[in-house]
Amino acid sequence: KDRPANIYEMLSQSIKAFPDREAIVMEEFRQTYSQLGDVVDGLAVHFYQKYKIRKGDRVALLLNNCPEFIHVVLACARLGAIVVPLNTRLSHLELSYMISHSGSSLIFTEEEKRDVIEKVNEELALSHPYEVVFITNHEGQKGNTFLEFIHLKQEISLIAREEINETDPLFIMFTSGTTGTPKGALGSHVGIISSALNYKHVIKASEPVKTLIAVPLFHVTGLIGQLFYMIAIGGTSVLLERYQTEPFIRTIVKENITFLFNVPTIYVMVMSHPIFQELSVSSVKVIAYGGAPMSYETIEQLRKHFPGIQLHNAYGATETSSPTTIMPVHYDDDKLNSVGKPVPVAEIKVINETGEELSAGEVGELLIKGPMVIEGYWRNEEANAKSFEGDYWKSGDMAKVDRDGFVYIMDRKKDMINRGGEKIFSVEVENVLYGHEGVLEAAVVGVPDALFGEQVKAYIVKKENVNVNENDIQEFLKSRLADYKIPKFIEFIKELPRNPGGKILKSYLAKLNQNKSRQ
Ligand code: ATP
Repeated sequence: KDRPANIYEMLSQSIKAFPDREAIVMEEFRQTYSQLGDVVDGLAVHFYQKYKIRKGDRVALLLNNCPEFIHVVLACARLGAIVVPLNTRLSHLELSYMISHSGSSLIFTEEEKRDVIEKVNEELALSHPYEVVFITNHEGQKGNTFLEFIHLKQEISLIAREEINETDPLFIMFTSGTTGTPKGALGSHVGIISSALNYKHVIKASEPVKTLIAVPLFHVTGLIGQLFYMIAIGGTSVLLERYQTEPFIRTIVKENITFLFNVPTIYVMVMSHPIFQELSVSSVKVIAYGGAPMSYETIEQLRKHFPGIQLHNAYGATETSSPTTIMPVHYDDDKLNSVGKPVPVAEIKVINETGEELSAGEVGELLIKGPMVIEGYWRNEEANAKSFEGDYWKSGDMAKVDRDGFVYIMDRKKDMINRGGEKIFSVEVENVLYGHEGVLEAAVVGVPDALFGEQVKAYIVKKENVNVNENDIQEFLKSRLADYKIPKFIEFIKELPRNPGGKILKSYLAKLNQNKSRQ
C-alpha cells in the first residue's frame, strides 16, 4: 500500500523526509515541517484536554487564510475530528444554519468576525451549545497564536490513539448553495489523500515546490489543490489573507513562487495589472487552473507571459475533493480546450436524459466515481438521493469524452441556455467573446423571453483604453457564431460579480434579469 492511512500520517511522512523545509509562510511568519508537527501535536493535546474534542466531533473555522487555519485542520486530523470550514463572506443567518446543522461544538474565528459571530450567538442562543475562540496573533504576528501549546506535545501519546481509518470524515464543506439550502459535502481522509497524490502523479514536479495560496482555504482549490498537495510532497505554502492583485504579484516575486493554482479570472486580473508588466515574474514553473472554464485567449496570454510554462487545466468540484481530470504534462494543441484525462483513480461516464451511457463525442451529464468522491452530504437524505446514482456522483456538468479519453466540459447544466428549444452553451459564446480585442471578461446568461422562453445576454467588462460598443461586438460575433447563439442583449459593466474564490457568479447575473422581468 503506497498511500498513507490518514492525513496525520501523510503529514508525518513529510516531517520525516523534509524536517527543515518551510511548510507555511505568511508575511514574517515562517514555519518548517518539523515546527509544524510540534504545533499540531501540542494543539491536538490542548483540544483534547481543554475542549474535550474526540473523534467525530465537529470544529468550525470562520477564518480568512492564516497559519492558524492550517494548525487547527491538522490538529483535528490527529484527533479524528471533523473540520467545518465556513465562508467568511456569509451572513449571520447562513452561518447559523451551518453551525447548527453541522453540530459544531467549537468555533475558531478572528476579531474581524466578532460582530457577525455575536449575531450568530443571538440566533443560536438556546438551541445549540458551542464555544467560540478568537485567534489572538500575539504581538500582531499571524501564525503564533498556538505556539504556546507546543510543550503539550510531550503528552500526545496519552491521547487514546483511536484508529483513524481512511474512510473517516475530515471535512464538512458547504457548497455555495446558490440553488437552495447549502449542502454539507462530507470529505474523507482518503478523498483528500488521493486528490493530493493525483496532483503529485500528474504534475510530476522534480524540484521543491512553493505555492502562493490566495484563494480561500475554506474552498477545495486552496485547501486540497494547494495546501494538501504541498503537504503530500513536502512543498511550501505561502499564504495571503485574501486575493488582491498587487500583493499577489509582489509576493510571487518576493518568495520565488514556483506553482500557482487559481480560478481563470485571477490570471486575467494578474496579466492585465500594470505591476505585472513592471516586475519580472520568472520563478513560476507550473500553472494550474480550474473551477471554471478558461478562454483560449487567456491560455495564449499565459503562454506568452510565462514562456515554457507547464499548464494544467484541472476539473473537479467540492464533491470530488478537487480534481477528477487533470491535463497531462504533454498534449497536442487540438486538446487545448479539454480539461484533461481522468485522474488514475477516477471512473467517469457520460449519460443522456434517460440515463443511458453515451459513446465518445456525445454530450451528456458527467458522472464520477472513485475514492475522491464524497460519501454524501451531511444529514441530507434528499440531496443524497438526488445527487448520487449508486457510487456515481452526478456532477451537473454537460460533457463529452473524445476517442483519446480527453474530457470536455461544455457547460453547467444550469447555465445552459434554452432558446426556443435550441440549447446554447454559455461557455461557447464566452469563448468567442474573449477573442475580441476589447473584451477583458465576459459572462453569458439566459434571460427570460416571452417568445423564446430564454434569450442570450452577455455581460462584458471592457479592456481599459479600448473603445468598443455593442455593434462592434455583434459584428464580430456574426462571422463566428450561429445567429441564434449571438447575444440579443449586451451590457457593459465595470466588474463581474464573483464568489470569494474568484468564480464569476453567473447565477447572480441571471437572477438580476429575472427580477427585472417581474417588475
Ligand atoms: P454550487 O454547486 O454550490 O453552485 P460550485 O458548483 O461552484 O458551487 P464547486 O464545487 O467549487 O462549487 O465547483 C465545481 C464546478 O465548477 C464544476 O461542477 C464545474 O461546473 C466547474 N468547474 C470546475 N473545474 C472546471 C474546469 N476546469 N473547467 C470548467 N469548469 C470547471
